[in-house]
Amino acid sequence: MLFAHDTETALIAAVELVNSAVEPDKLTTVADLHSFYARHGYTGRYDGDEAELHAVRHLRRELRTLLSADRDRAAERVNAILAAARALPRLVRHDGLDWHVHAVADDAALHRRLAVETAMAMIDLIRADELSRLSLCADHSCAGLVLDLSRNRARRFCSTRCANRHAAAAYRARSRAHQEATTKQEKAS
Ligand SMILES: [Zn+2]
Ligand SMILES: [Zn+2]
Repeated sequence: MLFAHDTETALIAAVELVNSAVEPDKLTTVADLHSFYARHGYTGRYDGDEAELHAVRHLRRELRTLLSADRDRAAERVNAILAAARALPRLVRHDGLDWHVHAVADDAALHRRLAVETAMAMIDLIRADELSRLSLCADHSCAGLVLDLSRNRARRFCSTRCANRHAAAAYRARSRAHQEATTKQEKAS
């Protein structure tokens, strides 16, 4: 593990949330929101209504800006988010999770907790000068963000779908080149 557990889980969730806005939108219903909430093991307030869905959908743009900002801008944004939420970091242990940081009340609105949690995680990335862990998907037709927490920094695509699409395109290009080379050889002989 490169970063603290809660830092990594917060970044994974934030990137998934941001990428859900890449067409086709994957966060359009309260059921989508519920599955996001459950999948990432959140605790604390969860209204599960249209207003919350709207607020979380709206947050995605702000998170995208934060996660794709350069280091200095990211630091400014982190400070702004924490100040606006009057964040007060504290160590907590709950639901079988070992000591980790919460910085807003558990009954604060979900979108606000998500923003603060992401900002807290970004603190670690900024301090360690590891913003290169976040990048744009190497498939140029895709606007997805990539979070690479691997030791060898091998991740280039936002999803297996993009990686597969890229592999298929590369394969087609190779076969085409091979075919052209063979045709040329046949003509020459
Ligand atoms: Zn917690
Ligand atoms: Zn992608």
